[in-house]
Amino acid sequence: MITIALSKGRIFEETTPLLAAAGIRALEDPESSRKLILLTNREDVRLIIVRATDVPTYVQYGAADLGIAGKDVLDEHGGEGMYQPLDLKIAKCKMMVAVREGFDYEASIRQGARLKVVTKYVKAAREHFAAKGMHVDLIKLYGSMELGPLVGLADAIVDLVSTGNTLRANSLKAVEEVGDISSRLIVNQASLKLNRAQLQPILDAFASAIKK
Ligand code: AMP
Repeated sequence: MITIALSKGRIFEETTPLLAAAGIRALEDPESSRKLILLTNREDVRLIIVRATDVPTYVQYGAADLGIAGKDVLDEHGGEGMYQPLDLKIAKCKMMVAVREGFDYEASIRQGARLKVVTKYVKAAREHFAAKGMHVDLIKLYGSMELGPLVGLADAIVDLVSTGNTLRANSLKAVEEVGDISSRLIVNQASLKLNRAQLQPILDAFASAIKK
């Protein structure tokens, strides 16, 4: 049995055509079903629906053979025990630094101010500011980072930005790019060795279905 770990919402929706290319179709919709294990039209393939941040954990420990997770999640988790053979080019967005609309980010950097930054992506943020030679105080949050600068918890946020609507709705502006984000296929290393005959056709179908 091949087990594929993925999260509900955007990743599931954008993975559906890739699964179809590999001849895999979920028998239930995770948005309406409460089941955590979804059977597919293929007897040898099942999907497990987990939180986006938990996908690498299931793959790392071999509870899932394959998984689909954002680069943001993978960078925070680390790549132990898994390969990342494919950039699926889905769920694309950018990781950005953003501040309140009236805040002069450039000037505060020039003045050497020690900024407080809230983020869910502590590792990526630490690397970004270290590469710029900036000293920052990072504060970990698990969601709604946009609130931080509005209530005086922080000067800046590091978060994912897609349309920019969330930033605008909260009077924030993006000031710096941390990096491009998209979802990647991850494969348990031991499973690839043991189950290559079953996994390789799925990997090949995904590879040829990736949008250029
Ligand atoms: P937007 O308003 O379109 O810029 O979207 C921003 C919000 O959606 C933020 O709260 C982000 O954390 C989240 N978001 C945007 N794109 C993604 C993505 N590809 N994966 C996960 N979260 C995302």
